[in-house]
Amino acid sequence: MPAPIDHGHSLHSLYMRGQPLGVECRACAHRALVFAGRVEGFKGDMTLLQDLRLLCSSCGARHWTGWLLSDDGDREAFIGAGRSRPTF
Ligand SMILES: [Zn+2]
Repeated sequence: MPAPIDHGHSLHSLYMRGQPLGVECRACAHRALVFAGRVEGFKGDMTLLQDLRLLCSSCGARHWTGWLLSDDGDREAFIGAGRSRPTF
């Protein structure tokens, strides 16, 4: 099950799970998988996920909700099969 990020989660948390960050726009509900294929490089990176500056590619809003994904099933549940997008 995708789990909402909290104050303690960092880029390293993505590395530990080996999954991209699920992001949902609070304005338009656009969803995307961020950092797909890049999480291997986040080992030891304690940058907090809540501090990331992300911009919705659909409506331009800056407010988003982050979700931690644990496996491929979570990815499909979050984004919908076949609708994966590389950027938010
Ligand atoms: Zn949006």
